[in-house]
Amino acid sequence: MELKEAALKGKRAVVVGGGAIGLEIAIALKELGLDVYVTKRSPPPFPRNLDADMGEIVRRYLESKGLRILFGKKIERIIGSDQVESVEIDGEIIQTDIVVMAVGGTPESGLAVEAGIAHNNGAIITNERMETSVEDVYAIGDCVLSFSGVDNKPVQTALATTTFREAVVAGINAAGGEMVYDGCIGTFVSCVGDLEIASTGYNSRIAEKNGFKLVTGRANMQIKPAWMPGAKEISVKLVVDSESGRILGGQAVGEEGAAWRVNIVALAIKTKMSIEEFRTIELAYCPAVSNLYDPLLVAADTAFKRFNRKRMIDYSKRIREERMAETPVVQRTTATTVDVKGDSKHIPSVK
Ligand SMILES: Cc1cc2nc3c(=O)[nH]c(=O)nc-3n(C[C@H](O)[C@H](O)[C@H](O)COP(=O)(O)OP(=O)(O)OC[C@H]3O[C@@H](n4cnc5c(N)ncnc54)[C@H](O)[C@@H]3O)c2cc1C
Repeated sequence: MELKEAALKGKRAVVVGGGAIGLEIAIALKELGLDVYVTKRSPPPFPRNLDADMGEIVRRYLESKGLRILFGKKIERIIGSDQVESVEIDGEIIQTDIVVMAVGGTPESGLAVEAGIAHNNGAIITNERMETSVEDVYAIGDCVLSFSGVDNKPVQTALATTTFREAVVAGINAAGGEMVYDGCIGTFVSCVGDLEIASTGYNSRIAEKNGFKLVTGRANMQIKPAWMPGAKEISVKLVVDSESGRILGGQAVGEEGAAWRVNIVALAIKTKMSIEEFRTIELAYCPAVSNLYDPLLVAADTAFKRFNRKRMIDYSKRIREERMAETPVVQRTTATTVDVKGDSKHIPSVK
């Protein structure tokens, strides 16, 4: 309410942060009629959720709504005495009435740390029953070092969905029951103006950082047949392990239908589904709701073709290497230069 009151009096706002909270606030301030600047240190928005190419759709959308996007530019100073007057971003002074810092926070876990509960840099370590290192003390939520449902790697999330599932597990165990938490894949959705931005699992950057080799598939198309009034665009991207074909992540950005598509990908990640299986899923169709062949499946087909091509190349390479190793006596040809009547020619030599 305080922010809204300040916004109704102000003319300009600077929002620092390119995640869900920053961008949702930025567009809301714009809708209240303010001139809005958005800045963040690294260039792509939603860096934990979207690949840079998908983030670009969000950036273009924000610009189309009249926001001034300064991604990749660092805020250096907030200037003012009683209240903010301006900010300095990358050497440029910008007058402003409001600054919103939406750059994330660190959970307050001091109480647990002081109590001697095992932690990693303040993130409380629990087992799968959400028990801490101290008997009968459980921990859940943003303060917990959770683990990924994709590859079991430690991960700290800040999502209500993760917190809720951890809370159910902790509550059942604390009450004498038995339940284990099976990891978080970070299924996420944000609405920035008319744009729905959703993701699950790993984006390409995080998957590669965690040691995966990838193929991806992306589709940009209309959600409904082109002749349907109000057919809107969506972009869907799938991130796939190029070795096993397992789906590692999904992203969708569009004016509608991003969340439900990503929720299907979440189920595929949870069941460790391969892209080969995923592309055969049957999705509901009627022109008022969807396209006959859904963008999610078009993205899956592209990813599958790339995965298959890589698998064929790897297979051929392996077979060739195995044959070379197995049959050293077989005569092989190599190019050798010999002089035939003064002419240099490449002819095959026989060893
Ligand atoms: C603006 C905003 C929007 C969000 N939107 C979404 C969303 O759309 N979807 C989503 O999945 N996630 C969203 N999140 C993230 C989500 O809210 C958090 O991940 C989730 O609330 C974490 O739960 P928690 O129990 O760890 O912490 P909290 O929900 O913060 O609960 C901690 C509680 O502990 C209390 N507390 C703290 N210290 C003490 C103490 N010493 N004694 C007693 N009580 C104490 C606090 O008052 C608070 O009630 C959003 C977060 C923010 C900030």
